[in-house]
Amino acid sequence: DAALVWFRRDLRLHDHAALYHALRHARRVWCVFIFDTTILDGLPPADRRVEFIHASVAELDRQLRARGGGLLVRHGDPRTEIPALASALRVQAVHAGRDHEPAAVARDAQVLGHLADLGILMHTHKDQVVFEASEVMTANDTPYGVFTPYKNAWLRRLTPFYLRAYPVERHAAALAAPPAALDRGVPSLNDLDFLPTGMAPRLHPGESGGEHLLLDFLERIDHYDQTRDFPAVKGPSYLSVHLRFGTVSIRQLARLAHERMQGGSRGAEVWLSELIWRDFYHQVLHHHPRIVDHSFRPEYDAIRWAHGKQADALFAAWCEGRTGYPLVDAAMHQLNQTGYMHNRLRMVVASFLTKDLGIDWRRGERYFALQLNDYDLAANNGGWQWAASTGCDAQPYFRIFNPVSQSEKFDAGGKFIRRYLPQLAGLSDRSIHAPWQASPLELVAAGIVLGRDYPHPVVDHAQAREATLERFAVVKSKA
Ligand code: FAD
Repeated sequence: DAALVWFRRDLRLHDHAALYHALRHARRVWCVFIFDTTILDGLPPADRRVEFIHASVAELDRQLRARGGGLLVRHGDPRTEIPALASALRVQAVHAGRDHEPAAVARDAQVLGHLADLGILMHTHKDQVVFEASEVMTANDTPYGVFTPYKNAWLRRLTPFYLRAYPVERHAAALAAPPAALDRGVPSLNDLDFLPTGMAPRLHPGESGGEHLLLDFLERIDHYDQTRDFPAVKGPSYLSVHLRFGTVSIRQLARLAHERMQGGSRGAEVWLSELIWRDFYHQVLHHHPRIVDHSFRPEYDAIRWAHGKQADALFAAWCEGRTGYPLVDAAMHQLNQTGYMHNRLRMVVASFLTKDLGIDWRRGERYFALQLNDYDLAANNGGWQWAASTGCDAQPYFRIFNPVSQSEKFDAGGKFIRRYLPQLAGLSDRSIHAPWQASPLELVAAGIVLGRDYPHPVVDHAQAREATLERFAVVKSKA
């Protein structure tokens, strides 16, 4: 028997469900990765994620070749490329990791149909999450919409079986080298019509990059609960982009965290909880695909968000980090410059856009989708709907983050703000959170003219808060 493994969001060799199953069941196994034109054609010409994927694919190819295999790489539409390759290689089955994003589900159904016409089977395997779809349900067999009971049920359901690795090395003899006639190697970024951004090395791409970040984080994991909320501190793992593209195994991460937690580590316990949030949002998306462009709670679709020229100008100020609220602006600069934003800041800027500027969460969600290296539909939608109060288990709408107190609390010394807004560096630790409150003397001493070196605040938080409570009143009367 021969099989083809289609790599997608699982760009690694170790602990790989689809590859393991293919190697166990077929005598010859080929591997393929498609640079999907239906996705890539919609991206800007320089995109950090394409560079990350490109470097990760090149590393995977090298690892496979060192074991007698290799990657067949194509640049096209997988709906035609996968059946064409499967047929040219005369395989009996195609294996891939399961993807619950609605667009991926639709694509895979089409590929499966084309393969079926050729008499070839397609098997998908759980690989992105620990528990997927309907594996963790309430006693009434309905999906969970609230996190804490979901998490408790998740932990009750967990046995070593679910975290066990799918070892690939011991079956690697079945890896087959790409036939010369079909082997085109990994195209250059240029061949893919992309320009380098220079970011790839800083993102540590590939399985080796994921391993490096993981080892680094394991030194810090026990303090995660105390450090994770402070953007100037190296607290979180920075593994999200690796989880997005599968250059780390979620089972390995959850296993390590669970073991440490059982050893009494509070940091590991809180970190495991974050990994469970990830599973949670994935199952929410699976059960409620309408949330892609609707509020999880339908009554919240009645909210009238600000629109028109003024809203557009405010939205542009938010995107470009020119709102006059330093923590919000520094966070947006972090996103625009690096493709990463600290979790605390994602909450702060999402709250600011929806509740201070009154702008529809979907606009912010789309901007994040373009900019985030770790962009993941389920987590991003979940995060935005949480902040906008439209989601399941969301922040109640009357809880409105104050961007200045968030700044004073989570960046007390202004270290993060100074990193991304060096023009404010001369302000005192007290004024840096709200430069418009600094005395004229302090502004002069710091060399800052508001409106020239740094914007005046685009809205008044107290007034915006009132407007938001009014805006959400439509929900209260309907709820
Ligand atoms: P760590 O703190 O080290 O957490 C470990 C892992 O847990 C993360 O890599 C991630 O996979 C998972 N995780 C952590 N928090 C969450 C969460 N709230 N929801 C789901 N998974 C979580 N995360 C994404 O991966 N992609 C997104 O597109 C995304 N968009 C977001 C948008 C908003 C508005 C908000 C509030 C949050 C969003 N998150 C998203 C969740 C979270 O901010 C990031 O996962 C986290 O900041 C990534 O950094 P890290 O890997 O250092 O996280």
